[in-house]
Amino acid sequence: MDKSTSFMRSLCLGEVVEEMIFPFPKMKAEESETLRAVFDSFDAWLKGREKEFREWDEKGHMPAEFVQQMREFGLFSFVIPETYGGMGLSSTAYSRTMQELAKHESSIAITAGAHSSIGMRGLLLFGTDAQKQRYMPDLATGKMIAAFCLTEPGSGSDAASIKTTATRQGDKWILNGDKLWITNGGIADFFTVFAKTDTKEGKMTAFIVTRDMPGVKTGPHEDKMGIRASSTTTVLMENVTVGDEHVLGEVGKGFKVAMAVLNSGRTGLGGGSVGGMKKAIELATKQAKQRVQFGQPISEFGLVKQKLGHMVVECFAAESTVSMVAGFVDQGYKDYAVEAAISKVFSTEALWRTLDEALQIAGGNGFMREFPYERMMRDCRINRIFEGTNDILRLFIALTAMNDVGHQLKELSSSLGNVFTDPIKGFGLLSEYARRRMANATGVGSDTITKANPELKAATAIFNEATRELATFADKLLRKHGKKIIDRQFATRRLADVMIDLFALACTISRVTALIEEKGSAACTEEKQILTVFSGQVRRRTSSNFGKIDENDDELIKSLADAAVEKEGYRWDTL
Ligand SMILES: Cc1cc2nc3c(=O)[nH]c(=O)nc-3n(C[C@H](O)[C@H](O)[C@H](O)COP(=O)(O)OP(=O)(O)OC[C@H]3O[C@@H](n4cnc5c(N)ncnc54)[C@H](O)[C@@H]3O)c2cc1C
Repeated sequence: MDKSTSFMRSLCLGEVVEEMIFPFPKMKAEESETLRAVFDSFDAWLKGREKEFREWDEKGHMPAEFVQQMREFGLFSFVIPETYGGMGLSSTAYSRTMQELAKHESSIAITAGAHSSIGMRGLLLFGTDAQKQRYMPDLATGKMIAAFCLTEPGSGSDAASIKTTATRQGDKWILNGDKLWITNGGIADFFTVFAKTDTKEGKMTAFIVTRDMPGVKTGPHEDKMGIRASSTTTVLMENVTVGDEHVLGEVGKGFKVAMAVLNSGRTGLGGGSVGGMKKAIELATKQAKQRVQFGQPISEFGLVKQKLGHMVVECFAAESTVSMVAGFVDQGYKDYAVEAAISKVFSTEALWRTLDEALQIAGGNGFMREFPYERMMRDCRINRIFEGTNDILRLFIALTAMNDVGHQLKELSSSLGNVFTDPIKGFGLLSEYARRRMANATGVGSDTITKANPELKAATAIFNEATRELATFADKLLRKHGKKIIDRQFATRRLADVMIDLFALACTISRVTALIEEKGSAACTEEKQILTVFSGQVRRRTSSNFGKIDENDDELIKSLADAAVEKEGYRWDTL
């Protein structure tokens, strides 16, 4: 199997690379056993401390003694190879571990996650042996906690616009600049810092900076909406001098390092989101059973059942998607950036909807600080913003696919001559091309899912049908907008949403197939029900998105937005 293949990028070209998603990835038995013991120790340590966690939230502070306990419980060792004293968890096991921590307390999960998912991930992926030997042992014990420093006051989503500089002076680099909202900033000793290096090799470089270096300072703890006990601070560098041994990866390739770190770490955030969903479902089901209104438990009411049922479906689909991406990483696939972005967008939004419904089921209690719902909602809101906003990730998902389709069409255009200049003739040819592209798919790919359990044929048919339409959809968008697609964000978003739905559906089909094979069909009634509901949702959403290529309100919405921006607000009143 070609490890450079991407499932979704291939899908947008009309090819279903089934070998990537079947069989559904499974954690190794010995790793499962290790995790069970680790999770038991988490339970013994963290269960029943709700009141304490609420106090941390109120004060916006995690006690230093607790951070010390985190070190002792190995919370900074998860992804560090065993040779350096770490646990060497696979991506699958790491993601599952983040799920478990998030069930207990989000600030704990974020502190551990920022260290392993992003803070020291650059060292893991790009570090030299000497760099690893120097820092990994201390990062494994938590003697050094890690932070990832990309964002600046003037540079968020547009990461390439950072202003921090690394100026060459002799054989040293002099770093100057301010980093903003850095998770673990107040407790970290190891910083992965991105700076502009206007050298001939390129414009951005990643550096290892440590707290003990003269000129490194961190600001006060930020007062945040959620994950309030986790440390978020500025990281300021004034004439910080480092040698070449502090360059992470190649000079000028810092942007590549930053993106690789964020991609590779996404299963941590995805795992945490699934953990939050599982906790919300547990709270909401207990609440629905206990709360009696109109003479019966509210769990008996259709509107409550509707919420709970959907929460289960979303959690199962998100868990399947996150687990699949972690499996890709563990199997050595190299090009999983689109799928990782999908898993982040899908799981973080599913968590938000799930918590919103859980809070609704709790009624007024849900609004009270005494109960965990409002804190969980505040805590999880950041997931849609950091590690790439979900909006930027949607653009990335769709534009990557568009770029691939564009290349294929370009190749085709040279053989089809005037296809681009004759819209009517051209479109017919392109549709034909898309159909032929699928029909001719050979080698590892096929044009449909064939490995799903036959009992799942209704869901599989929805996937296959939408996949066929996807290739035509992408062709059509490019035909309509050409290079301007980059500025057509309404259309791009629709393509991204279709891709998100199709990947989540493929992962869920694969997982239910594996469960049927393992436990037998009779034991999988609920899993089959989940798939039926989810595939129905996907069918409705995708067909709505496909239908809006030509007929939509995009221009009206844009004009309303422009008018509101011009007026700086809403201009109507009934006064
Ligand atoms: C609690 C917290 C912890 C954080 N931890 C870290 C950390 O550890 N390390 C780190 O480096 N950073 C961290 N960040 C920063 C975080 O990654 C950024 O906030 C995020 O990348 C978004 O950048 P921004 O806030 O500047 O928003 P902006 O980039 O200003 O975006 C504002 C809005 O505009 C949208 N937008 C922007 N550009 C486009 C476009 N081209 N098309 C369409 N929409 C667009 C965005 O999606 C968003 O909705 C953290 C932030 C917070 C709040």
